[in-house]
Amino acid sequence: MRDIRHHLTDELLMGYSAGTLPEAFNLVVATHVSLCDECRARLHSFDAVGGVLLEEESASMAHGALEATLALISRKAQEPIQPKPKQPAGAFPGPLYDYVGGDLGAVNWKRMGGGVRQAILKTSKDATVRLLNIPAGAAMPDHGHKGMELTLVLQGAFLDDGERFARGDIEVANEDLAHTPIADIGEDCICLTASDAPLTFNSLAPRLVQPFLRI
Ligand code: ZN
Ligand code: ZN
Repeated sequence: MRDIRHHLTDELLMGYSAGTLPEAFNLVVATHVSLCDECRARLHSFDAVGGVLLEEESASMAHGALEATLALISRKAQEPIQPKPKQPAGAFPGPLYDYVGGDLGAVNWKRMGGGVRQAILKTSKDATVRLLNIPAGAAMPDHGHKGMELTLVLQGAFLDDGERFARGDIEVANEDLAHTPIADIGEDCICLTASDAPLTFNSLAPRLVQPFLRI
């Protein structure tokens, strides 16, 4: 597999490690981490530090504890990378395959217009996660964000703001970004995308159907 170029932020990896992310975000983070050596190594160091901080929670933070914690992070980050988990043969990495209960064939797709199809996965209501299938060369509706949006590519690729995102790459978008991802030619682009607030569509038609599509 090619190198993954677009990764999770430290904040997301820490939130995942601490168990504070919405279920929808946990699924996207776990799926990326299963594909990405770099983020798996960083997560490993946050997991180790989280354990140390928990142990120290009752005691007052001793003088030098911060230095010791930072030293631990860098030591953990240098440990050999944990082996890649065994992956199913299809488009869905292990965590997503387990969540859906199968691969692409197990997904109940719904039409969105413009040839785009989506399937919303069942999670807790604080955030939403969906699979998107965007025809090769087609655009997602132009939209902004009220919260955070994570988009992980599973098949094909999309272009956004001069960057190309292919399998394993993750785009982290927030309030500041209004964008129009376009599926690369050659192959339909299938993504797993989570958002913690309704997207704000910029053109009227998508806005009208927004409540029905739960975007
Ligand atoms: Zn990564
Ligand atoms: Zn977006």
